[in-house]
Amino acid sequence: NENTEKKDDDSSVRVALRIRPQLAREKIDMCQVCTNVVHGEPQVMIGKDKSFTFDFVFDLEVTQETIYHSCVKDLIEGCFEGYNATIFAYGQTGSGKTYTMGTGFDINISEEEVGIIPRAVDHLFRGIEECRAAAIQRNEPPPDFKVNTQFMEIYNEEIIDLLDTTRDPESRGRKSHIKIHEDAGGGIYVVGVTTKPVSSLNDTLQCLQIGSLSRATASTNMNSQSSRSHAIFTLHIKQTRVSTEESFIDDEDGQDAEPQQEFETLTAKFHFVDLAGSERLKRTGATGDRAKEGISINCGLLALGNVISALGDKAKRGSHVPYRDSKLTRLLQDSLGGNSRTLMIACISPSDRDFMETLNTLQYANRAR
Ligand code: ADP
Ligand code: MG
Repeated sequence: NENTEKKDDDSSVRVALRIRPQLAREKIDMCQVCTNVVHGEPQVMIGKDKSFTFDFVFDLEVTQETIYHSCVKDLIEGCFEGYNATIFAYGQTGSGKTYTMGTGFDINISEEEVGIIPRAVDHLFRGIEECRAAAIQRNEPPPDFKVNTQFMEIYNEEIIDLLDTTRDPESRGRKSHIKIHEDAGGGIYVVGVTTKPVSSLNDTLQCLQIGSLSRATASTNMNSQSSRSHAIFTLHIKQTRVSTEESFIDDEDGQDAEPQQEFETLTAKFHFVDLAGSERLKRTGATGDRAKEGISINCGLLALGNVISALGDKAKRGSHVPYRDSKLTRLLQDSLGGNSRTLMIACISPSDRDFMETLNTLQYANRAR
């Protein structure tokens, strides 16, 4: 994988803003909506005088399907051509990250409410079938696809394997044996983590479900389901197909031979990252161990903000990108920038009582552009 060359000339980081609808609780408490999307523009006004523009802005009633089609679909299509992709959901706890990403996969969910991951996986396996059918139509050997998944969590700068069903839940917070390595070509790989081969939507959803059930959560005053960790669901896609460029193989004495059918292997990684809540610690009233968690969570979010802003800043291109400042950015090093496509979905609440956190999220997302 080449990490230096940019195939797309425009910024490889795109930012979408999603405003979730008001929750029943917020309506009961008579919270006011403090966000206003400028009609026909990817722009949001918050309060009276602050406005922010992003690549996409999705207002209260925008469906999961619309979000998938507007900004995720193309990233899956890129995987067939060997482009890596990463999608982040950023925002305070309760802003809709898990709902949007579909990380907390639940079999009882209605079809319309299904989040990004199950839609992407469905799209991937349909795409694989289409590629194979098209090759057969052309009288070519169908491409071979191998898809593997991993599901990890980063908690207190330790990596937890969410697909390891033998893991002792009490081991959380202890030193983990999982290590991040870099190969000679700059590719990042993780040693000691479960890698599950999958060959269908159902296989993959089963992994998603196992992992989301074992995902660590801890309670704070703010939200008993508060996520203090980053969850990373990864698809590794390896495709072996007849080379798209006709090639002539030289034989030993340097003579041109007949055109040959050559095979090429394309690999792509797709990371879906449900980030830890971005709220500042004070408001949750966390103390002791919780406070320590907060510090390292902020370390991942801070490092990510710095990496993404370095990638988005044309003036800084080619200069140092601080990937090594956190486990999160190190793990994603070969999937951010370079030939990778990155989408940050900033999730916010529309309610006035979340104004300050919303403003923080908008400012963080704005740095990414
Ligand atoms: P987070 O993961 O950021 O903490 P969640 O995804 O758990 O937030 O969302 C908080 C609550 O809001 C959940 O009950 C979720 O179902 C609901 N919710 C979030 N986004 C939407 C949406 N776009 N439409 C309907 N309900 C939503
Ligand atoms: Mg969540």
